[in-house]
Amino acid sequence: MSRDDYELVDTYSTIETHESLTRWSQEYCSRAIETYEFDIALSAVDWEVSTRAKRRAAAVKTPQLDDATVGEPIDWSSHSKTAPSSGTPPNCTISLSWRAFESFDRSEWTATLRHELVHVEQFQAYGTTDHGPAFKRRVEAVDAPVRVRRFSTPKYVLSCDGCGETVAHRYRDCKLVRQADSYRSSCCESSLTCDKFDSADD
Ligand SMILES: [Zn+2]
Ligand SMILES: [Zn+2]
Repeated sequence: MSRDDYELVDTYSTIETHESLTRWSQEYCSRAIETYEFDIALSAVDWEVSTRAKRRAAAVKTPQLDDATVGEPIDWSSHSKTAPSSGTPPNCTISLSWRAFESFDRSEWTATLRHELVHVEQFQAYGTTDHGPAFKRRVEAVDAPVRVRRFSTPKYVLSCDGCGETVAHRYRDCKLVRQADSYRSSCCESSLTCDKFDSADD
């Protein structure tokens, strides 16, 4: 592991806000574009962090085109309704799930980003993207999964009674969950409330 990688690992573990998650992911993607030789205009990508996504770790949202096919290069200059007149691709959006980020480690998160970059690359080249054979070949080449793991919503969320902030979440039953009343939050030295969520995950 290079010194460079260590620095990235460190900053990954300090991400606490939607803005820093977006910034870190953008930075990672611009490096990955060079390393894996993606043919992508990152300037035509918008970013968002979703707190509502319950199962999808990330997604690429694109304008819908009727006549686009994966494998058939698109001429953006003839799609002036969707694309800027300069012939460059219209913007698409990489939507990141905050909850997936919380439950994925760094390597799974970066693999997820590379998966999404393949979608962006396909969209910018063909005007559409899917999970077909060309996609499978490309994700293998960039060491990303064909399907991103579905994450489950934490079953238990513990919040501070003093300030209401979430202080911990657990995916399964544990001592902290069973004896929440015997713990105190570090922020306010307050009691904790444990909420249980029934997940419909399969
Ligand atoms: Zn996908
Ligand atoms: Zn508190």
